[in-house]
Amino acid sequence: MGTGRLARPWLRCPPGPLPHDRVSLAHPSRYNDNVKRVRTTLFFLILGAVSNIVVAIACFVLLGEQSEGWNEMRVGVARLDDSCLWSVWRLKRPGFLRLECRVWQGKTEWDDRWESPNDTIESWSLQPSDWNVIPQRYDWQEMASGWPCLAMWTRLHIRDPLHDFTSPVNTRIHPRDVLERGLLVDRAYLPRQVILPTGVIWTGFVFNSLFYALLFPLFCLGLCRVRRSLRRHRGLCGHCSYDLRGAVHEVCPECGSPTGRRRASASVT
Ligand SMILES: [Zn+2]
Repeated sequence: MGTGRLARPWLRCPPGPLPHDRVSLAHPSRYNDNVKRVRTTLFFLILGAVSNIVVAIACFVLLGEQSEGWNEMRVGVARLDDSCLWSVWRLKRPGFLRLECRVWQGKTEWDDRWESPNDTIESWSLQPSDWNVIPQRYDWQEMASGWPCLAMWTRLHIRDPLHDFTSPVNTRIHPRDVLERGLLVDRAYLPRQVILPTGVIWTGFVFNSLFYALLFPLFCLGLCRVRRSLRRHRGLCGHCSYDLRGAVHEVCPECGSPTGRRRASASVT
């Protein structure tokens, strides 16, 4: 019995995997490839979103404070009632937009050059709905940044009576001003106050994140191509930099990747 069992070991073989096990074990490499692909995609998407936030904050801090070089400066004014006007100044440059808004009373004359404020504001910006309960004057600034699209925004309600934002020497945020969707960084070691926008403009945010998520793999592919062609130029394998000088190889003896030399050798012979 014992010898028979040893002579015919297949009789002792355990039964093969059940059909559902076969399905899961049939293509482990394909499963791993899919997992790797999903991980890589997620990695680049997260990298794209982080890059988008970093670029938006950098645009905000670097471009928002400069007073010169605005590409576009439009003004829109609407009459809210007989004595109350709503005006919007729109200042734009690539990567940054600022809307300077004001509702004020006591001005009745009308300038024909004024456009409609609805043409100058954006979908995320504030329209004065409670203008009739506000005091004599109400100012606010809306700022957004990001490249290639605007992706982050913040709003500064100017409530401090000493703060006149139209004066270029009075741009600091005052104690009674209110910052909406933004963080104020005011430290002694910084040369000036810094606002970090936290509001999200979703269309721009998604577009920019996808843009950067695609840009990084393209950049890496370009780098790989350049590195491969440089290695081939030096007579090395483009894939693993194995030294191919001294003999003509169709494929690399080290890693098996084609060296691209077949046609050259065929034309010589
Ligand atoms: Zn190689």
